[in-house]
Amino acid sequence: MVVRSRGKFRIVDTPALLDDHADRGRDIFHFYLTYFRPIWTDCTCEGYFADNFGMVLWSKSPQKDDLKFLMETNCSKVSHELAHEFLRQAGYKNYKELVHDIWDKHLFASLPYEHYDANNKQTDKDALFATIDTSSLRL
Ligand SMILES: [Zn+2]
Repeated sequence: MVVRSRGKFRIVDTPALLDDHADRGRDIFHFYLTYFRPIWTDCTCEGYFADNFGMVLWSKSPQKDDLKFLMETNCSKVSHELAHEFLRQAGYKNYKELVHDIWDKHLFASLPYEHYDANNKQTDKDALFATIDTSSLRL
């Protein structure tokens, strides 16, 4: 996809999104769902974050209307990036490591995601959203 940014035509990439973020105001949190992976990132989930900025690859399922795929693959990654920002805003100095420790447990230790229904209530059935496990983040 080609966009016009700052008077130039360019391919949408992470720097283009960072420019868009700057144009809209660096003091406002902006989150982007993208069709590409960031070329460079220190994030472990096909996303990228900076202060007041988050982006993540939104993957398409090979099957139509595959809610489980969207929930487990995309919502979990979105919650990963949002967790970085929420923890940063809450003043946690280790907001990157906290999230990546949880993410590693999801990937390598079979830690289940948290699931939520249409009313944003945590559920084990009729789930529409999956997030990283936040039980270790509660005070
Ligand atoms: Zn991360």
